[in-house]
This record gives sequence, C-alpha cells and structure tokens, in this order.
Amino acid sequence: MAMPPFLNHRSLEMESRSPEETRRLGVSLSPLLRPGDVLALGGDLGAGKTTFVQGLAAGLGIVDRVTSPTFVLMREYTGGRYPLIHIDVYRLDRMQDVVDLGYDEFLDPSHIVVVEWGDMVAPLLPKEHLGVEMRYGTAETMREIVLRPRGQGWEERIPAVRALMEELFSADRDDPLFKEIGPPSELLPPPGGRPGRPGESGQPGAHPGPEREEG
Ligand code: ADP
Ligand code: MG
Repeated sequence: MAMPPFLNHRSLEMESRSPEETRRLGVSLSPLLRPGDVLALGGDLGAGKTTFVQGLAAGLGIVDRVTSPTFVLMREYTGGRYPLIHIDVYRLDRMQDVVDLGYDEFLDPSHIVVVEWGDMVAPLLPKEHLGVEMRYGTAETMREIVLRPRGQGWEERIPAVRALMEELFSADRDDPLFKEIGPPSELLPPPGGRPGRPGESGQPGAHPGPEREEG
C-alpha cells in the first residue's frame, strides 16, 4: 500500500495511484471552488495536471472534455456552475504570451482560473491561490501530489480541503488518509507517554495492574 497522504501543517500531501484517482481528486475539490479562485499547477510533464483539471471541470458540471491546451494556451469552459479558464504555459517563453493575452483580465472574480506550470508564472500569480504540485512517484501510475494553500482565504479552507480528501480516500483505502505531522509541540504527547496525575508518577513501586481500583 502506498504511503498514506498526510497533512503537513501547511500543505496536504497525498499519493495518487491511477489517472482515475487524480481525476477524482479534482472532482472532490470542486465543491470548494468559488469564482475568483486561482489554482496554480506545477510539476513534472505528464504528471497528471491536465487529468486533474478534467476532474475539476467535471465536478463543476462542465460537460466538455478538458484537453491539454498546448497549442491554444488558454481555453474557457462554460456550462458548469462557474466558468473555468484553463491556461497552459508549457514553455517559459510563452509567459510573455500570457501577459500579452491580457492575463490580468482572466483573474476575474467571476471565473475560476487554473494555470498549468504555475511555478513558471509565479510572478504573475495572485498572492491568494491554491498551489498544486504533481510529481512522478515510485511506480508507473503513482504520482505524488501536494496541495499548498496560499493566502488567508485558502489557509482558512485547509480543514475543508482536508475533510474532502479524507472522504475521497477513505472510500477505497483502508489506511487512514492523513497522518498529521509537525503539529505544534503542545499537541504532541509528552515524551514517555501520557502525563500522569499529580502523585501518580514518581511511585516506582506502584503497580498499575488491572485490579487496581481508583476513583
Ligand atoms: P500533465 O498535464 O501534467 O502534463 P497529463 O494529465 O496530460 O499530464 O497526463 C498524465 C498522463 O499520465 C496521462 O497519460 C495519464 O493516463 C498518465 N497517468 C498515469 N498515472 C497517473 C496518475 N496517478 N495520475 C494522473 N495521470 C496518470
Ligand atoms: Mg497538461
């Protein structure tokens, strides 16, 4: 079984085992999306960014199939709950094209904007966005996916994102979806186990057997 996805304080990391899982991840996230949202997708070529966008679009009720807009740079999909703009800046020298196209206008409060190769266009991204990074995993159809909420609005949505992910992965996975790591130290159990009651610890002779009656 793959490494279970986990919540790392500020990012959500998970593993997808198939294109279908990546698509379902997009479907699961779609109820959280609001007009004006920007998603920045980065990572390996062929890692599944467009596949993920297909899921988002389907989840928004868009019937048209999302394809890689490699030669088009930008496509708008309507007919769903909100219009979805899909931009694919597949080469760095096309970044200027994005600017020339009037990229600012796409960052419109009435649209959801998804930019593939978000790391390339980082200077153009609004402070408030959801970063999605996709990398090849250890097996042919394995992918490592990291969601990075940026800005206050997305950080506030972390618990909601997490809940959706838990629901998605618990549907067909035995493992608990998330393992929290890196919580504030006061949330961690003290070294050596739970704190004893006053007077309970420091009694080397005490025998905490099952018959022991207390309160
Ligand atoms: P990108 O847009 O990142 O370049 P695509 O979504 O266009 O990637 O293509 C991903 C390719 O990898 C597809 O051919 C898909 O079938 C394949 N694939 C295999 N495993 C996965 C997975 N777990 N998630 C997404 N795609 C996968
Ligand atoms: Mg693509």
